[in-house]
Amino acid sequence: MAEKCVLCKNKIEETFLGKIQGTFIKKKTVCSTCQKKFGADLEKQL
Ligand SMILES: [Zn+2]
Repeated sequence: MAEKCVLCKNKIEETFLGKIQGTFIKKKTVCSTCQKKFGADLEKQL
């Protein structure tokens, strides 16, 4: 099942290894694009 980014609402793709192209923070999923965009301020956006 595909996860959605909590910030941009885009679907987060999975790699061929089944890992999401993003990260889990506080049990929420964030895509790699938002991860780069917000960087160290990412947790404050949640
Ligand atoms: Zn995102």
